[in-house]
Amino acid sequence: MRRSCKVAVIGGGMSGLVAARELLRESHQITVFEKSHRVGGTWVYDPRVESDPVGLDPHRTKVHGSLYASLRTNLMRPLMGFSDYPFTGCDFEDTSKLKFPRHEEVLNFLEAFAADSGLMGFVKFGAEVVKVKRTSPDDELSASWMVKWVQEHQENIEHFEAVVICNGHYSEPRLPQIPGIDRWPGKQVHSHNYRTPEPYLNQVIVIVGKGPSGFDISVDVANAAKEVHIASRSLRFKAGKIPGMENIFEHEVVSHVDPDGRVHFADGFSVLADIILYCTGYSYHFPFLEINNLTVDDNRVGPLYKHVFSPRYGPYLSFVGITSATIVFLTSELQSKWIAQVLSGKCTLPSENEMMSSVKEMYDEMEEAGKPKHRTHWLYDKMEGYLDWLAAETGLPQIERWWFHMFDALLKSFISFGHGFRDKLEKMPYSNLLNEVK
Ligand code: FAD
Repeated sequence: MRRSCKVAVIGGGMSGLVAARELLRESHQITVFEKSHRVGGTWVYDPRVESDPVGLDPHRTKVHGSLYASLRTNLMRPLMGFSDYPFTGCDFEDTSKLKFPRHEEVLNFLEAFAADSGLMGFVKFGAEVVKVKRTSPDDELSASWMVKWVQEHQENIEHFEAVVICNGHYSEPRLPQIPGIDRWPGKQVHSHNYRTPEPYLNQVIVIVGKGPSGFDISVDVANAAKEVHIASRSLRFKAGKIPGMENIFEHEVVSHVDPDGRVHFADGFSVLADIILYCTGYSYHFPFLEINNLTVDDNRVGPLYKHVFSPRYGPYLSFVGITSATIVFLTSELQSKWIAQVLSGKCTLPSENEMMSSVKEMYDEMEEAGKPKHRTHWLYDKMEGYLDWLAAETGLPQIERWWFHMFDALLKSFISFGHGFRDKLEKMPYSNLLNEVK
């Protein structure tokens, strides 16, 4: 028999919105809690930065968004939509639109998605969830979730059968340990607080990390900076100036820093730098969640069955969008469909023991393959299998293969063209691109 549950969705970003749509489709009763005053989460550009530029001070003024002003997506337009609600301007033969849309376009898309899916009436705006806990930890069967939130300085409490957590994972900076950093006199900033290049005029900057943000920010900031030195674990070229770039240099990792302002790299090079800009990623953070059975250990959120369900609470506690290195929107959509169907009884979860065994198996496999803990939710080469599994589980037809071909093509161009990957791909019709990887 189909069940309808009373569900709290925490967060009104992309994951919260698609979760809300899927829950409504399965006839659940939902409330979406959103602490800001609009939907879109990450995609709402916020020019403010935090009071502590590296994000160490727990009492700092906090800002959710991490976008910088010039940001364009790193996935191509067709990969930024949902399976049945494509991103705007996705005609595969049309080369007139930017393949990598600017951030404003993504926000417009999400706002249209929320309106067209009839979600706006279910969102409580300016409602920050501050506590989520079981009403009776000793009596799991009859317990529910107590959700406490603050809205206009008022505390409110309501009980729900299930909670779906979609609070986003790009707000809490992760920093590396650099020998000597305590006595290094320069300025340190995390990419969470990078917005525009102007404050970096004529400065010598060391960027730590060369993931998508490090990569893009180095080009953006180089418009103002005197020199940009990227320190990374994986060099694309021999250490030194990057071919075709006027003032961007690449090095091995930072080995240590000196009290006179010098930054040393493992390749033996050193530079007197004004600023270290950390593009070293983010930590998962669930400050409102008061339960014993879930931890964040070196960025592993666990235990989570297939990155979504807490084995202890089964269908009644789930997470959307924990995974990374994936086609983000499609992944959140499929995870949401699964949650909605598990709650309604259309899909069933294995027993707690079976889910725990599956989690352990994944951890063991990672250990054997030498993968670090902080990569637990990084899908990458597991993405296709994972998404196909979710589609099959939720009774969808097989995912059209162009999604994966396009993602592969993108990764290949990223590897071959480095900093110029967007420019190279902009000029190529999608059909050529797809043919190249088939
Ligand atoms: P978010 O967008 O972060 O939304 C979370 C929401 O939860 C926010 O609205 C927040 O206000 C709310 N919230 C948090 N805590 C609470 C609380 N306690 N109570 C109530 N509300 C709360 N993805 C791509 O697909 N393509 C890209 O090109 C791309 N580029 C990116 C570039 C940058 C710089 C960053 C940081 C991320 C990028 N991403 C990209 C990933 C991006 O995060 C996802 O696309 C998507 O925004 C994730 O949505 P989400 O809903 O999971 O999280």
